Amino acid sequence: MRTNGTAFVSYQPSPVDSEVGAERLFFPVDTPAKSGTARLWCHIYWRQVLLLQSRLIQAEVASSSILAPHAITSTVDYRLADPDDAIYQPRQPEHAASVTIGQEGGTHVLRVMATDGRDLLRAEATLGEGQLGNQIQLARSALRRVAWGGSEEPWQPGQDYRYERPPSLEQVTSDLILLAVNGYRLHHLLLQALGRGVGADPVRRRGPGREKRLRSPGFVQIALTRSAGHVVPAAMLYDLPLDSNAANLSLCADFVASAEKGELFGSACLTGTCKQASEPDPRLVCPGGFWGFRHALGIPLSIGGGPAVPMTLPYRDGVALAGGVYQDFPSAQGHVEALRGLVRWRDYRMGRDRLGTLEALGEQAQIVYFYCHGGVEGDVPYLRGAGRR
Ligand SMILES: [Zn+2]
Repeated sequence: MRTNGTAFVSYQPSPVDSEVGAERLFFPVDTPAKSGTARLWCHIYWRQVLLLQSRLIQAEVASSSILAPHAITSTVDYRLADPDDAIYQPRQPEHAASVTIGQEGGTHVLRVMATDGRDLLRAEATLGEGQLGNQIQLARSALRRVAWGGSEEPWQPGQDYRYERPPSLEQVTSDLILLAVNGYRLHHLLLQALGRGVGADPVRRRGPGREKRLRSPGFVQIALTRSAGHVVPAAMLYDLPLDSNAANLSLCADFVASAEKGELFGSACLTGTCKQASEPDPRLVCPGGFWGFRHALGIPLSIGGGPAVPMTLPYRDGVALAGGVYQDFPSAQGHVEALRGLVRWRDYRMGRDRLGTLEALGEQAQIVYFYCHGGVEGDVPYLRGAGRR
């Protein structure tokens, strides 16, 4: 409930005997029977699905009542916004799901919230370090192979982008199959973990409910908490049934037909309505099975303890952009031109070298855009935009 800019609690789960009770939500919590440090993970969601904050609450439990000023601490593991921001500026798109990846006590914890607008799916699972790390490595090596033919090593000068020229149908087919097999295995690992997760709702865990809830295109938040050890290549997750060990996989005929006509955007495959989506044949790969093609994926980073960032960026008379492009990409020119034509820009500063890029970044911009190589030298991450000048 809310009046005159202040939110009031309309239902209080815990009895409270205080004036502050009208503005704060209190929950009853049982402490363990023995004394020591007790831990509680607290996750705050907006409209059930979008993760706003994740905190570790630690409390000193003692057998007798003593005055201890620092008996309760709250550590931010993920912070996208404060509840007030969401309440008073509720302009973020309605999310269909969120996937939170974190680490609690040495194991990876995966938490999924998903809705089809009616029912809510809530599931939680833990994964061993080796399992997740290996599968992510395999997925990344498939991406490297598709992009420049390498697999283990980072990109090196002299390696050509394999999609510089329009590819043959054979190349597209074998690449999509390679990505789907690896994306399917990664998705299967996560889904399998959720199936046996202790936190999964037992009623909804059975049956096809989960698949259905994530079937239609929607906004999906991938929340990497401070403790998350991995970045999951979420666009590659492939969730249609697939016989990943079959020797002769082929492409969905609807996809090939719409690609040949140049009508991929909005096609039946990418909106999850092609034949393969309704009656999946596990020997066929349909690009609509990739999360990156079907969903709008966001990986909003935690702002930690920093000042709140606005949920929406207002603009007038066009959008301002700053960034840089790696000039040696054969596709750089075409890419920049396509970007220029995308929306009405008020200010468009794309640096052509290091200094130009730094200068562009000094201006106020709503969008910061890079099209370049990146890597890690020693412990220092870098973007390789252009010459070193
Ligand atoms: Zn299809």
